[in-house]
Amino acid sequence: MPRKRKSEGEGKKVQRRDERKFDVEELFDEYLDELVDGLGLSNINLPREFYYNVLKEPFIGAVGDVKSKPKPRTIINRLISIKADLFDVISVRLARELDHLSPEQLDFAVQYIRRGIVEAAPKLYQEAIRMGARETLELLKETWKVYGIKAPVNCPRCGFASVMPDGVCMVCGKDVSDGEIKRQLEIIEQLRELKEEDPVAYNEIMSTNYLYFVEGRLVPPSKVRQEEGKLRYEIVLTKKDKMELEKDFN
Ligand SMILES: [Zn+2]
Repeated sequence: MPRKRKSEGEGKKVQRRDERKFDVEELFDEYLDELVDGLGLSNINLPREFYYNVLKEPFIGAVGDVKSKPKPRTIINRLISIKADLFDVISVRLARELDHLSPEQLDFAVQYIRRGIVEAAPKLYQEAIRMGARETLELLKETWKVYGIKAPVNCPRCGFASVMPDGVCMVCGKDVSDGEIKRQLEIIEQLRELKEEDPVAYNEIMSTNYLYFVEGRLVPPSKVRQEEGKLRYEIVLTKKDKMELEKDFN
């Protein structure tokens, strides 16, 4: 037997959601210059189109669902509350989109870049070198330590902790020799310690002639699968390395 239809509520008008009383894109266009000033972005001197592109999405987010037209100050304050992320994104785009940065643009990018440094470091490095901006380079190097992919091997050319497991510097592109990587990771010294602490692992490394360096530890090939997702340096032991080890044991 079919159920009786509920008649309750029938005929009741669904209340319409209030329509927004302004056009958000038009408002953005109207407020853009004020936003640029209010956020302190005018000194980096970019074309309006650049500001337009980088601020549009954050602006729409900051406006949110309001029905009536917000004041510029309200939007600026909301954008200031997400300034760290916003300026990080702007810094990356400066590095990505401009062939060359002005000194003010470089200072801005190096001051505000955070996680975006992984992408932007090579360009910012090049520009700092081009301008001979030593202090800027030092600041960039410090930021890399905090937000970059901190490698255990420092690059002999640029000095950043940015030599990846493939032996290439992520910042300046230098190809670093295996010998230099082994020296910095103190492989021989660590092998000496490993012989005392974990003879099984040591013997495996000595018979296979290679090992992995993962987060400060030497890992024999059979154990490396457990270290997925971490920076793993594959180290091949040469005759010279083994001779050095043997010599030290005499
Ligand atoms: Zn380098």
